[in-house]
Amino acid sequence: MKRNSLIPLPLDIFLKNIYGNILLNKSGKTADYIPELSRVNPNQFGIALASSDGYIHEIGDSLQEFTIQSISKAFAYSLALELVGEKEVNKIIGVEPSGEAFNSIRFQNDNRPFNPMINAGAIACTALICSIEKSKAFKKIQKIMSDFAGRNLSLDEKVFKSENATGDRNRAIAWLLKNNKIIKTNVEQSLVTYFKQCSLLVSARDLATMGATLACNGINPVTKKRVISVENALKTMSIMVSSGMYDYSGEWVYRVGFPAKSGVGGGIIAALPSQFGLGTFSPPLDRQGNSVRGIEVCKRISSYYNLHILEIEGNIKDSIVASYNLQNIRSSTERKEKNIKILEKFGAKAHVYELAGSINFMSVDYIVRRLQELDEKEFIILSMRKVSQLSSGADKLLDAFIQTLNSLSTKIIFSDIEFNSQTWNKIFGSLGNMEDNKTRLFENNNEAIRWVEDFLIQKYSTDEKVNINENLKEQFLFKALSNSDLDFLKERMIEKKFKKNVKIISKGDEADGIYFLQSGKVDIAINLQKSLTTLNAGTCFGEFALIEPKSKRSANVITLTECTCFYLPLKILDSIQQSRKKIIETLLKNLALLLIKRLKDCNSIINNILDR
Ligand code: GLN
Repeated sequence: MKRNSLIPLPLDIFLKNIYGNILLNKSGKTADYIPELSRVNPNQFGIALASSDGYIHEIGDSLQEFTIQSISKAFAYSLALELVGEKEVNKIIGVEPSGEAFNSIRFQNDNRPFNPMINAGAIACTALICSIEKSKAFKKIQKIMSDFAGRNLSLDEKVFKSENATGDRNRAIAWLLKNNKIIKTNVEQSLVTYFKQCSLLVSARDLATMGATLACNGINPVTKKRVISVENALKTMSIMVSSGMYDYSGEWVYRVGFPAKSGVGGGIIAALPSQFGLGTFSPPLDRQGNSVRGIEVCKRISSYYNLHILEIEGNIKDSIVASYNLQNIRSSTERKEKNIKILEKFGAKAHVYELAGSINFMSVDYIVRRLQELDEKEFIILSMRKVSQLSSGADKLLDAFIQTLNSLSTKIIFSDIEFNSQTWNKIFGSLGNMEDNKTRLFENNNEAIRWVEDFLIQKYSTDEKVNINENLKEQFLFKALSNSDLDFLKERMIEKKFKKNVKIISKGDEADGIYFLQSGKVDIAINLQKSLTTLNAGTCFGEFALIEPKSKRSANVITLTECTCFYLPLKILDSIQQSRKKIIETLLKNLALLLIKRLKDCNSIINNILDR
């Protein structure tokens, strides 16, 4: 993607600043219990942050490869969950923080390792994968970790051999697990697979992407591929929160507050749900075996930007951005005066809430409580145009609300729904087939409002024959015209009939007359997709010609039903004798009044929307 590099990204500047600062911290010691690890250059330092839309911010040695070590435990655990499900995994590995070092040999009272983030639990987890995948176990682990990273990760043979040759403590742990019947398969194969998974090579950038995949509920934001289920991503992150940093885990939640996992290779991975994944690399470790500089990076980012997962911003009250009824705000539909009067009287029977932002469980509760405060309504319209997300808790509460409305007489309408969008399909799919009951969906709010208006007019009109040929006298433009003047015009107007879906006026045509719609409905549209206004019988169109003769028509007029019109050619008006000049004066005055009325309507819409 093309970017304007002249606009600096503030996050890059922040990372650069903390990088320079933290680089000065030379404390800590590289791991040496795996001989090969003691050879790494302790000065290397890299940071990468992958956003949930797949953009990578990075600085320093962010592409330098190192062995993933214990960070692999989180991903092997997620693979085990994918393979056999949480219940089976839980039979052999707990989910409790141990409060002990990563290589502790202590187990829970029931002989299970405390959790999958310490060596005992991780070896049990890898053994479980081995018992299912047999000789393909390592390839499977390598594959899922590569999918998390979005590229093929390779094995550092030297580190693997070095640990395999010296990992006696892990061997002891594995044999104890076998003795405890936690490992039920070949111990040596399980250990080799475990050592290999720890020796996969990653960079800080890979870790950032892997973290972002967890943060995006299992979908890699760079490759867009789903790697694990939402449920398993949540479970993996949960254990990272409680046990990811060994015996520093409690402090970690307290001070940093997002899921993370460290490895003795010097890496730390972190994930902030829905926002980003973070990867750091710096080999010197503190007493607990966590990268000194990596911890510092996480602490600074978290505290400076207030990113603790418990620190939630946003206010449920912001979920409603506009609230109005149809008494004072209406669709962009021209209606004859009689019908406008009906809407002025009965419009309050329909209420619109425009919703916005990320709607969660409590926002729905708030919206429903606001609805409860209203007098009884026939219609409730919820516009979803500005809603970015509906949480599943919100979805459930909304569903229950719709069910209760079904037993009352209120009809609920959702507007501004993008019918093909995945989000809405998911939500409205789960709300059941709503068009069957009292719920309706509209692609746009104006259409929804228009539909409700039509309904109210039908219901409350005392007129028996709606939409049959209207009386010309009721046309707004002919108001106050004498009977003889009206007859004079009538004789000169041409009656025109149109079928459904016919273009009466094309944008750009010369404006040569005015149409008076006597029956049917037409759409005024700039292009075929977007209707600006719908006109009903009893209104007119093309009336600007009266002020600007010979100008170009500014929009298309298309019939929505069969229509009849009276067409008044401008040249008739031109040829009017002095004695009838009053006609033109009246028409112009009426047109001015009509325009003032439209302007007032627009002001009222703006005013009401601002006043939520
Ligand atoms: N392979 C290492 C071990 O099992 C991983 C430990 C770690 O990174 N904390 O000892």
